[in-house]
Amino acid sequence: MTVTVRFAPSPTGRLHAGNIRTALINYLFARKAGGNFILRLDDTDKERSTEAFARGIEEDVSWLGIEWAQLVHQSDRLARYEAAVERLKEMGRLYPAYETPEELELKRKRQLARGKPPVYDRAALKFSDEDKAKLEQEGRKPHWRFKLEPGDVRWNDLVRGEQHVDASSLSDPVLIRADGTYLYTLPSVVDDIDLGVTHVIRGEDHVANTAPQIQLFEAFGATPPAFGHHNLLVGANGQALSKRDRSLAIEGMRADGIEPLAVTSYAATVGTSDPVAPHASLDELAAAFDFAKLSRAPARFDPRDLRLLNAKLLHMLPFGIVAERLEAMGISGGEPFWEAVGGNLEVLSDAKTWWAVVAGPLDPVIEDAGFCAAAADLLPPEPWDEATWGAWTAAVKAKTGAKGKALFQPLRLALTGQSHGPELKVLLPLIGEGRARARLENKIA
Ligand code: GLU
Repeated sequence: MTVTVRFAPSPTGRLHAGNIRTALINYLFARKAGGNFILRLDDTDKERSTEAFARGIEEDVSWLGIEWAQLVHQSDRLARYEAAVERLKEMGRLYPAYETPEELELKRKRQLARGKPPVYDRAALKFSDEDKAKLEQEGRKPHWRFKLEPGDVRWNDLVRGEQHVDASSLSDPVLIRADGTYLYTLPSVVDDIDLGVTHVIRGEDHVANTAPQIQLFEAFGATPPAFGHHNLLVGANGQALSKRDRSLAIEGMRADGIEPLAVTSYAATVGTSDPVAPHASLDELAAAFDFAKLSRAPARFDPRDLRLLNAKLLHMLPFGIVAERLEAMGISGGEPFWEAVGGNLEVLSDAKTWWAVVAGPLDPVIEDAGFCAAAADLLPPEPWDEATWGAWTAAVKAKTGAKGKALFQPLRLALTGQSHGPELKVLLPLIGEGRARARLENKIA
């Protein structure tokens, strides 16, 4: 059996931390198993779904490095859902119900007041054809409910283990709203059957949909797929994630200069028994993926941790992965430059600051002109290497008597214009004698 999974966002917004994680868990699982990953756009809600969001989601998924074997739009498959509806009606498993939301709410309240669970009482099943005709004449439009079969529904959840739900404790789910639109329950099952989905992996918020969906698979004579419900993300303070928080949206992370591999590393390791740590490829993350590592408690997603992880990732990324983007920023220092500065960046664009230090022009900061001039006189002739800094500063120390911070800090300020940064022994050969001398002499170079 080839593993086939799908990530099924609704194009009613762009991707954010919560659904990135669902996408990634599906993808890593399929990748590890050598299976297929389908991107399915649940766009049956015409009012809220837009073409622009759909394209935005494709862009977000691609940016993360996730490749899909197939792209499916539910809006292209309405005929399949209609056929499924007809089958359910023929089987007597789909029935019209006419209660308004207010009437349903009243029923719920009454049941609760009597200490009963608020399960739909199936009053609609008792309506005669005349009753229904009369209601429709009054202008009422039915919504359609799936008639559940009594009994225990069981599945072995990939994350939560053995689960069982007594179907009699559930309301018959509404599959079609009074305005004729589908809730996601039925189209999702029809798609999962048609596309051969073997594993439905989604957030814990969908766990309540599973028993009715299993009964739908069975009604259509299909073997239900395996189900896995992963823990959800909460914000840094334990609150629910806000979809409007830009720092939680892929778009925002991108704009902030966060690396896709930092996002995937964070999303794949947060809320697991593995430490949150940078991984240099999706293959590495896939190799480490295991449902057993997912924690049952909500996982905290903190944009500050993501930024820290980004810095750690940049530190370990090989030059090849960033080469093109550095070049696009006008940085031509190649691998030696990357080796020198990679460990000092929070985001890749910080490299521009260090490129200005290496390639100029830079306005030096001179605190003691006499000291810097003396140091300039002691600069050895090129070629320079990593030993140059040690030899030169030893000579400056011998000549001026300065040591420790009093020796190094004025040189750093003169050479880089900053009090912190990469090791000078690696920067100095990249800066070169001409620029170093000029800066020590308080010239822009
Ligand atoms: N469109 C649904 C959602 O975004 C899909 C749920 C599922 O994966 O079954 O929540």
